[in-house]
Amino acid sequence: MIWKLEYEGKDMQKNHFLMKLIFALITAITSDLLAQQNNLSYSVAWKQTAAEHRALYHQGFNIARLQIELALAGDREGKPLAIISDIDETLLLANDYWGYLIANGEDFFNDDSWDRWVAENNFVPSPGSQEFLNYCQSNNVEVFYVTNRDQGEATFALVERNLISAGFPMVDREHLTVLRETSNKEEVQNTIMEEYNVVAMLGDNLNDFSRVFYLTDIEQRESLVNEKRSDFGNKFVIFPNPTDGHWIRAIFGESEPSATQENRQILRSAATRSAWQP
Ligand SMILES: [Mg+2]
Repeated sequence: MIWKLEYEGKDMQKNHFLMKLIFALITAITSDLLAQQNNLSYSVAWKQTAAEHRALYHQGFNIARLQIELALAGDREGKPLAIISDIDETLLLANDYWGYLIANGEDFFNDDSWDRWVAENNFVPSPGSQEFLNYCQSNNVEVFYVTNRDQGEATFALVERNLISAGFPMVDREHLTVLRETSNKEEVQNTIMEEYNVVAMLGDNLNDFSRVFYLTDIEQRESLVNEKRSDFGNKFVIFPNPTDGHWIRAIFGESEPSATQENRQILRSAATRSAWQP
């Protein structure tokens, strides 16, 4: 009897060990596959860890500040000074959301989880944004926020809360415009420009500066940037965004492509557009 119990005990130990081994193997294989297959990993790792990413924000805000200093030192007759800024990935970062996608094995932006995440108000101010906007305020430079977020009826209140939480100035109906139905910011920008001397426009997407950039073709976008090259670092201040924007639309034909094998293949083709063939 004692012998039988000992035997069964050893048997159970053996089974337990095997179960643990199988579980560890499955976990290793799954996480290995997820790590290998996630198209977003490099872009998000860069956003989450690269000091270069932070430096580019400081560089952008330094350039914008320089434009303001030049305007303040120049002829002050005429319209009051202002800046127009995009919000997402320009003034507020959503690294936490992109990290969530990767942690859940998702390799494309997901509008449903994005809407849920936005409501949790976990954005962080981009490096240098608070100092820059406070500099604007203390020099009587109006700050206009223009975004085309859409989380339904609650959008304005959600954006307003995000900006206030970040400690940004001038967050009110006059300075914040939410365009839920369109990504075309030009009408609002033109209205602001009628009353103000807009010394800098800030954004992570070419469309944040002018609607002329709203092109679907990769070559056309490139050649227009080349044509307007003197505006960058002058009137237009661009911030880095390797995960989303109209550059995605130029590749897939839509800004928020779904997570399909076909789209993964399209991404691969874009990434191998130029590829050494030794
Ligand atoms: Mg943006």
